[in-house]
Amino acid sequence: MLKIDKIDITPVQIKLKEPFVISKGPLYYAKNTIVKIYAEGIYGVGECCPYRTIHGETQEGTVAAGKDLASLLLGKSAYEIKANMAILDKALAGNASIKAAFDMALYDLVCKSLGLPLFRFLGGDAHKVIKTDMTVSLLEADRMAAKARAFVDDGFEILKVKLGKRPAMEDVKRIAAIREEIGFDIPIRIDANQGWNLHEATLALTALEEYNIQYCEAPLKAGRYDDMQLLRNRTSIPLMGDETVFTHVDAHQAIAQGCIDWINIKLGKSGGIHHAMKIAAIAEGADMYCQVGSFSETRLGITALTHFAMAWDNVIEYDLDSPLMQSEDPVIGGMIYHNDWTVSVDESPGHGADFDANFLARFETITISS
Ligand SMILES: [Mg+2]
Repeated sequence: MLKIDKIDITPVQIKLKEPFVISKGPLYYAKNTIVKIYAEGIYGVGECCPYRTIHGETQEGTVAAGKDLASLLLGKSAYEIKANMAILDKALAGNASIKAAFDMALYDLVCKSLGLPLFRFLGGDAHKVIKTDMTVSLLEADRMAAKARAFVDDGFEILKVKLGKRPAMEDVKRIAAIREEIGFDIPIRIDANQGWNLHEATLALTALEEYNIQYCEAPLKAGRYDDMQLLRNRTSIPLMGDETVFTHVDAHQAIAQGCIDWINIKLGKSGGIHHAMKIAAIAEGADMYCQVGSFSETRLGITALTHFAMAWDNVIEYDLDSPLMQSEDPVIGGMIYHNDWTVSVDESPGHGADFDANFLARFETITISS
């Protein structure tokens, strides 16, 4: 029955190559929490990266919640992913980050036990072409233009640009500077991370229409559905729900109220693959495209996300750059980046990624066992 007998929780820290700056502030370290679930001599691994400014979760909080939740899964069958996630959801509201780490570890464990790669377990397509963008942090216009130039020189064919600093007309100057540097051919997607209000967003997006903008993530504070509806009627730039769509319930509501054109699915918002499948299905029912994205997960979290993306035809855009911003790669196996910035996974059972034991040994692991 693949009975769960032990769970390890390890909070880790990875320095970023340079600060990652969004409208909510800079991030210097990825402070991620790793969950390993053991059953009958094998284990599965998951991770999460709580953003305190977005999730309202901290790394310390994920560890405390994780210890609590782990005790509820001991003795349960890992195969019953739906039932296990229901136990976690019933015991603790919200806390999407730590639940995502448990979910990822469960899928990995079950697929390893079945000898199946995760994308095959999810019914995915081995030949899907997945190409990542690269993100330009929110800085002064000239520095952003220089970063954009460097990324284009590195072969990236899509850029994501962080905006959302008021006054919004300064953000327009940022995009103008980038376009002057790299030209108009490379698609640019922008992300305000909730930094504008309706007035600022209207000014920015109408002015940005001439700059070949693919779509805009999170122009307004999450949950402002009325303002999102108004904004959507004021600009031709499509709006993507990110922070406003954590769950499948949010996805349904945002679509039903006509607030968004796209959804950004992140396992760290949905609480893992099990619930993310529901978001993708709701989007598919609305004939809506999705992007997959992440917080500052390592290549392990991005590997699980890649498998998920392979299972959905309406997931057509990919923001899989977080491992590229980290000063070390602590992951063995898993997804690889190719020279043209496409990514792929192999046929290893599970998601195929694991943390280097030497990396984990640098941090304190908490073990919960029966
Ligand atoms: Mg975003």
